[in-house]
Amino acid sequence: AKAAGRDQLATFDQRMREQRLARARTVERLRGALDRDELLLHFQPLVRLADERYVGAEALLRWRPAGEAMVPPDAFIPEAEDSGLIVPIGSWVLHEACRVAAPWHRDNGAVVSVNASPRQLREPDFATQVLDALQRAQLPPQALILEITEGVLVGSGPVAEQAVRHLGALRERGVRVAVDDFGTGYSSLAYLRDLPIDHVKIDRSFMPGPGEPDPTARTLVKAIIDLATALGLGTIAEGVETAEQVALLRALGCERAQGFHFARPVPAAEAGELLARSHRE
Ligand code: C2E
Ligand code: CA
Ligand code: CA
Ligand code: CA
Repeated sequence: AKAAGRDQLATFDQRMREQRLARARTVERLRGALDRDELLLHFQPLVRLADERYVGAEALLRWRPAGEAMVPPDAFIPEAEDSGLIVPIGSWVLHEACRVAAPWHRDNGAVVSVNASPRQLREPDFATQVLDALQRAQLPPQALILEITEGVLVGSGPVAEQAVRHLGALRERGVRVAVDDFGTGYSSLAYLRDLPIDHVKIDRSFMPGPGEPDPTARTLVKAIIDLATALGLGTIAEGVETAEQVALLRALGCERAQGFHFARPVPAAEAGELLARSHRE
């Protein structure tokens, strides 16, 4: 039994070592990805529930190494975050998203959402970078929503304070801030009142499952929408996959939604077509 335990330990150690190596290799390959033009953005349309029109899109990062399959973001964003590579990559995402969205905004008044990672919000010049991207793309600040996770703002200490300052400065210029994956953290609700935010994005884990109506799920979604609305915040539901969910969200007064029911994330050109078509209808 002892020997078996030792063997198990050895394989565990080896697995850990392999995992560490794989992560290091990912970071190495990711380091040159920007220069090699392997990164691209897909866009998932954002729908206004009142009339089901597309009113914008979220930029979602994709990595396609030459001659290989697409690497999903969950397989490289954590590595990019740990290694700090998310800083130059995130800056590229901002510039690219603003550039792509500028004509959508000009022609259809569309907004664009960009994910900002905690690591980016720690950079002393984050707010300047965002304003620079807007300026270069000639996109008005009102057309940009920055998506952040709740952990970024909560708690005291220089990191949270820095992030709050950045977002405060950006909101003064008209940029909007959304709390992503809302409800999945365990932070106090007081921050909804105190912090520089405009929208909450209800995490997809709150969407009621298919089949029989689930009263608990409904109660939770209703509570989040009511709370956000009472505090003057906008509401965006994510991961909306069924017509039942759409009906429920609409009945509960949710403003906007995103999900496979409406559209999957698609390349920029396709997203532009969808937005233009929805605008003409
Ligand atoms: P997220 O910000 O919560 O993005 C939403 C994710 O849900 C996207 O996954 C999207 O494809 C997926 N999704 C959308 N609708 C549905 C649906 O109806 N059902 C289901 N099951 N999923 C849906 P994706 O593109 O794989 O991105 C995963 C995560 O990677 C994102 O989660 C975000 O945290 C991160 N990410 C993506 N792009 C960026 C980026 O440019 N910067 C940073 N910092 N993070 C990013
Ligand atoms: Ca997001
Ligand atoms: Ca989300
Ligand atoms: Ca999520």
